[in-house]
Amino acid sequence: MNKQDILCKLPSVDELINNERIVGVLRETPRNVVVKFIRKSLEYNRNKILKMKEDELNQYQFQLESFIDDIISNSKAFLEMNLKEVINGTGVVLHTNLGRALLSDEIKEKVWAVAAGYSNLELNIETGKRGSRYSHVIDIIKYLTGAEDALVVNNNAAAVLLVLGTMAKEKEVVVSRGELVEIGGSFRVPDVMEQSGAKLVDVGTTNKTHLWDYDNAISENTAALLKVHTSNYKILGFTEEVGLKDLVALGRKNNIPVIEDLGSGVLVDLQKFGLTYEPTVQESVALGVDIVTFSGDKLLGGPQAGIIVGNKKWIERMKKNPFTRAFRIDKLTMAALEATLKLYLDEKEMINSIPTLRMLTEPIISIAERAQQLHNILIASGLKVSIEIKDDYSQVGGGSLPLEKLPTKVIKIKPKTISAAKLEESLRNYTIPIITRIQEDQIIIDLRTVREKDFYNISDALNKILM
Ligand SMILES: *Cc1c(COP(=O)(O)O)cnc(C)c1O
Repeated sequence: MNKQDILCKLPSVDELINNERIVGVLRETPRNVVVKFIRKSLEYNRNKILKMKEDELNQYQFQLESFIDDIISNSKAFLEMNLKEVINGTGVVLHTNLGRALLSDEIKEKVWAVAAGYSNLELNIETGKRGSRYSHVIDIIKYLTGAEDALVVNNNAAAVLLVLGTMAKEKEVVVSRGELVEIGGSFRVPDVMEQSGAKLVDVGTTNKTHLWDYDNAISENTAALLKVHTSNYKILGFTEEVGLKDLVALGRKNNIPVIEDLGSGVLVDLQKFGLTYEPTVQESVALGVDIVTFSGDKLLGGPQAGIIVGNKKWIERMKKNPFTRAFRIDKLTMAALEATLKLYLDEKEMINSIPTLRMLTEPIISIAERAQQLHNILIASGLKVSIEIKDDYSQVGGGSLPLEKLPTKVIKIKPKTISAAKLEESLRNYTIPIITRIQEDQIIIDLRTVREKDFYNISDALNKILM
């Protein structure tokens, strides 16, 4: 047969749309979506045929049923949400690729009410005049941090850009060489400075920076002293850094503001819960730092946001910067942030009501109980593989507390019929994706980040994949 004859034998769009199985699918799938995939599949087949050599052409047989299978599955997949819930079996609490902080169940309705209805986002209810969207969170941020004023933007990267662009454009900012952080993606302190229009003056060395390093670098062009919290690494050994207190004193003496990028915004002393000390926002404010920036979705446990607190004089200037409009947060974020911050007002409950804090501080006995529960469910489901509960460590993640090793319990599964790599891949591609780790040809599910409601999904997935 020649190519033209084969091409003529391909069904037309009309024929396909009237095919019995497609007609069935059209009851729940919009016609335009199905037509899109019919066209795509036809084109794919046409191109394939046009590229075929003589011997391939002779063997070619058009497979109508599998052709229709593809159209149906592609149409259905196109309608499904791509962005969806996954089960985090990694134990990394603030997993950047899995969406960082989880919002509290308690705030669900409050956020949805604002999202799906009209709100007073920019309306002052009392006066009936235009209000500021930031007004909703300013008072609570001031209360929680002790700062004089506050502003919120899309994320902490934007916050740093806005702060430097407002306070130090075309001027110099002094920062220690030990704090030229890369956060991941393309957030590098030197690059952010350049984008903001501020000139970086790096002082000291990688391991040691002294107060006199800063002092020597100060000139009439200096706009600010910057401290960056090395949130995702630690320099250990023969080291020295200048504390905030001394830096603030130096700034005051020279009439130069001090800016601090805290990275993770901690509002509670984590030592109370057995974690490593992490500087809190309140401490920086109390020590007299002029402007502090931090993330909303790291240790604070809220939505993605960048929070700026500090002197009113500087915040007022930032509000007038056009970048503030470009970086502004939407009503969903605002609602989620306000509701999360309100959870901090109840000191007794906040550890339980804020999922990030709850997961980071869950006692090992409680994790062990849940591991036992999942273990029992898996055994009862009849899985014929080795399933064990083991001790391990979870990580905080999100570039926070990099050295923290949180003792945890994990379920270890050693598949018999397939490799651990294959099992990991199949779990990841399951209807509700289950993200696990591999260690020595076993897969590991860390119970710290797995919720009870996920237990039966994990069991079903393993049974489907391993049976
Ligand atoms: C995480 C981090 C940032 C970036 O914050 P995002 O909210 O992710 O934009 C900036 N600086 C430091 C020190 C950080 O740890």
